[in-house]
Amino acid sequence: MNGVYFLLALLIALVGLLAGHQLIRDIIRQLVDANEKLAKLNNQQAAFVGNVAHEFRSPLAVFKAALDNLADGLHGALTTDQQEPVSMCLRETNRLKRLVSDLLDLTNMEAGKLPMVKAKVVLQDTLGAVEQMFTGLLKKRNLTLTMDLPQSPARLIGDRDRLQQVFVNLMANAIKFTPAGGITVQLTQDGDSVQVKLEDTGPGISPEDLRRIFDKFERVNSTEEGSGLGLPIARDIVGLHHGKIWVESEVGRGSRFFVKLPMKGAAAAADD
Ligand code: ADP
Repeated sequence: MNGVYFLLALLIALVGLLAGHQLIRDIIRQLVDANEKLAKLNNQQAAFVGNVAHEFRSPLAVFKAALDNLADGLHGALTTDQQEPVSMCLRETNRLKRLVSDLLDLTNMEAGKLPMVKAKVVLQDTLGAVEQMFTGLLKKRNLTLTMDLPQSPARLIGDRDRLQQVFVNLMANAIKFTPAGGITVQLTQDGDSVQVKLEDTGPGISPEDLRRIFDKFERVNSTEEGSGLGLPIARDIVGLHHGKIWVESEVGRGSRFFVKLPMKGAAAAADD
């Protein structure tokens, strides 16, 4: 009799096991389906944003050209009353142009479609160009800029303009979020990689905010102008160069952004 009970128990256990197995398979299938749907939705959204941004580009260029002409007095000198609205429209058009260009860059990068022009890059030149670009703004904001660059050229193969865009975005943020003090840019070479540290004396970033500032559209307690796309774009460009970007910061003690890039192909870059 015991043997019958045992067989019955075994049968029940087997049926349970099979049913459980089937249940797990169903759940996995549902998860895979949901994941595929989400990925499709995500792609559709990215394509939509990309298309809209693309459609905005030409009319914005037309607005900007017309407003530039007006502001330059090409259609006659502007009265004092006219100057303010024209420069306001120009400011906003420029802001929209930057946003549209950032959106296009990001959607192209995410779709793996950002054209990269690989060339020999000397990071001292790139950082020097960024310094020049911001000299006026630094002066206006009464901030100091210390450039600590080694004599020996830090060469690598990469996209000059895109790499410059990374440091422009970091520098623009450092200036934007630093009310007093200054910014230090330090370039170091370590074996087969180069590292740029961009340090500011701004308010710093809390640990909770540090986790999300590289995500799209994330802006933390910011009353400053911006779209929340500067850091994700920098992260993607650095990624396309097989590098790493990260930040260390403490509230009240400024922020330090790091970019580490491999000098792959540096030997070729040295053959000038
Ligand atoms: P945006 O500057 O357009 O807001 P970003 O993607 O460049 O967008 O930056 C995201 C957020 O990260 C900023 O809104 C700001 O809250 C924070 N952040 C970036 N750089 C700094 C910095 N140097 N100091 C303090 N906060 C910063």
